[in-house]
Amino acid sequence: MALATARSRRQASERPTEEARKAEGMTMVLVVEDELEIARVVRDYLRNAGFEVIVVGDGGSAVASVRSAKPDLLVLDLGLPGRDGLDVAREIRRWSDTPIVMLTARGDETDRIVGLEIGADDYVVKPFSPKELVARVRAVLRRTRTAARGDEIVRAGDVEIDTAKMRVSVGGSQVDLTPTEFQLLATLAREPGRVFTRSQLLDAVHGVAIESYERAIDAHVKNIRRKIEPTPGSPRYVETVHGVGYRFADA
Ligand code: CA
Repeated sequence: MALATARSRRQASERPTEEARKAEGMTMVLVVEDELEIARVVRDYLRNAGFEVIVVGDGGSAVASVRSAKPDLLVLDLGLPGRDGLDVAREIRRWSDTPIVMLTARGDETDRIVGLEIGADDYVVKPFSPKELVARVRAVLRRTRTAARGDEIVRAGDVEIDTAKMRVSVGGSQVDLTPTEFQLLATLAREPGRVFTRSQLLDAVHGVAIESYERAIDAHVKNIRRKIEPTPGSPRYVETVHGVGYRFADA
């Protein structure tokens, strides 16, 4: 019955693949990786985890496949022959919000930061465990779906952040944050687990912050931790991502 429905929708639809997939509740991941062995392992793990997977090996095919197949998420290697992954991400972000998880080489912190600032959602550093990649893919999908719902109250452990009323409480007691601290915390907490660069956080507080340099973010984070963390020296909520920026803990 369900299959018959999906099939008839497929025939009736202008975008058959996408519509049929949604009707059948499948999530499609496009893997862009030129190294065959890695591509194969990633494909197998994602399939075993229940995803539909398409693999392409270069940037041009990646852009074309995002347009034609409309995947739910992209796993994008940054080191590709010809058009590199950053260039691909930049192009895709002009017309698509499809979540992107980057595969980056160890030591390529600059690429990681540039990728996040272009609008990639997360990254995994090579060599990575396929299990870790699957976990990241799931986390990014969960987070982007939650963010799309636009929930106004974020709860994590003892911390409650009401983004509409601009109130923060810890263990039921209200905590006073400055407007800059609040914007910063709300930006991080709306998407738990997402890594933000200092520059992205600076953009987020633009309008409330007087400072215009990235290191000012560190000072604000220090203040936020002092106010909400049980042990500011070993933060449970606002985590440091070395060399890149900060993220709110994904409980
Ligand atoms: Ca590569």
